[in-house]
Amino acid sequence: MMDLAALRAATPGLADGQVFLDSAGSSLPPKIVTDTVVAHLRREAEIGGYRAANERIDDLAAVKTSIATLIGATPDSIALSDSASRSWADFAYSVPLRPGDRVLISEADYASNAIAALQRAARTGAVVERIPSDDTGRLDTDALAAMLDERVKLVSLQHAPTNGGLVNPVGEATRIAHEAGALVLLDACQSIGQLPIDVAALGVDALSATGRKWLRGPRGTGFLYVRAELAETMEPARLDLHSASWVSPTEYRLAPDASRFEFWECDVAARLGLGAAVDYLLGLGADAVYAAVAERADHLRKTLPELPGVTVHDLGTEHSGIVSFTVDGHDPIAVRDRLAEHAVTVTVSHASSTLLDMTGRALPAIVRASPHYFVSTDDLDRCAAELARVIG
Ligand SMILES: *Cc1c(COP(=O)(O)O)cnc(C)c1O
Repeated sequence: MMDLAALRAATPGLADGQVFLDSAGSSLPPKIVTDTVVAHLRREAEIGGYRAANERIDDLAAVKTSIATLIGATPDSIALSDSASRSWADFAYSVPLRPGDRVLISEADYASNAIAALQRAARTGAVVERIPSDDTGRLDTDALAAMLDERVKLVSLQHAPTNGGLVNPVGEATRIAHEAGALVLLDACQSIGQLPIDVAALGVDALSATGRKWLRGPRGTGFLYVRAELAETMEPARLDLHSASWVSPTEYRLAPDASRFEFWECDVAARLGLGAAVDYLLGLGADAVYAAVAERADHLRKTLPELPGVTVHDLGTEHSGIVSFTVDGHDPIAVRDRLAEHAVTVTVSHASSTLLDMTGRALPAIVRASPHYFVSTDDLDRCAAELARVIG
C-alpha cells in the first residue's frame, strides 16, 4: 500500500490544496526532482557547466540505468533526448524508405508522429496508411495482419493515446508486424510512468517517451529505447561528435550503442531531474503505481457520468488513467477554465492532436482528467462537485 499522506507531502504543488488532474499533460514533480534540478543549476553557476557535469558523471550514467530498469532494457539501448517527439522522429527519420514503401499509423496516432511520417513519405515516395480500429476502438490486429506486406517498413503503435483511456494490444500487433518484417516504433508517452512496461515482452523495436507526464520529471526531457541489434547497426539521420567520432579526415565511426541517437549538448540539470523522477517511481513500484492510477480513474469513470449531460469517451477494453469527457451544452475550454477557477486542474485535448480518431468520432475537443497516484478520493469528489456547479 502506498502512503498517500507521505506522497502528497512530498509534492510541493499540492500544498495549497489544489486538485491536480493533469498528469497526462505535465504532472507535478516530487520535491526531490525539483531539488535535484535546482541544485545542479546552482552548481553550474558556481563552477561552470563542464566541471559541474563532471562531478555528476556517475549519476548521469545512472539515469539510463534507471530508465532501463523501469522498462526491462539495458542502459546501452537508451538514448536520452529533450522530448518524446524528438525521440520518435530520431528513430522514424532513420528508417530507410524508398518509393512505394509503406508506413502504417494507427487511428489513435499523435499528431507529431503523423506529421513526421507524412513528411518522410513525401520526401521519399513512400505512403502513409492508417490501421483501422475494431468495434471497441482498439487497434484492429486482424486488419493490421491483412494490410501487411514486404513494402511495410515501419508500423507506428500508440500504447495509450493522448485523448482518452484506450490501451492498445501492442504485444500482439508487434508480433504480427514482425512476421512481415516491419519495424515497430511504440509511442509510450501516455503509458510510461503509469502502466508497467517491459520492452522485451512487448517486443517493439523502438519506444519513445517523455519525462514530464506520468513520470513526474522535468519539462524538456524524453528518451528513445532502441533494441540492441538495431542500436548497433542503424544509421541515425543526423550525427554530431557524440553520436559518432571523427576518425580520419574523411571518416567517422558511429557510437556503438543507442547513444548514436543522442547529440552531445543537453540540459544536464533536467537529465538529473529525470533520473530522480524515475528512481522515485522505481521506489514506489510500477505495479503499485498502476493499481493506484486505475483505482482513481475508475472512480472518475463511475462518478462523472452520474452528472447530467456528462459523457465519458473511453475506447477499448482496458483503460489507462486518462478519463476524457464532454458536457452537453458546455464548451470544453469553458469547463476547463471554470474548474480552474475552483482550483481543479484539467486540460482540453483538441481534434488536431489525434485527428484520425477525433474526426472519426466527430469530437472537436474533450476535457481530459488524468489523476496520478497522489490524487486523493476527496480530490476526485471535489472535481465532481465543482463540475456539478459548472453544469448548474
Ligand atoms: C504528449 C504526447 C507526445 C509528445 O510528447 P513530447 O514530449 O511533448 O514530445 C507524444 N505522444 C503522445 C501520445 C502524447 O500524449
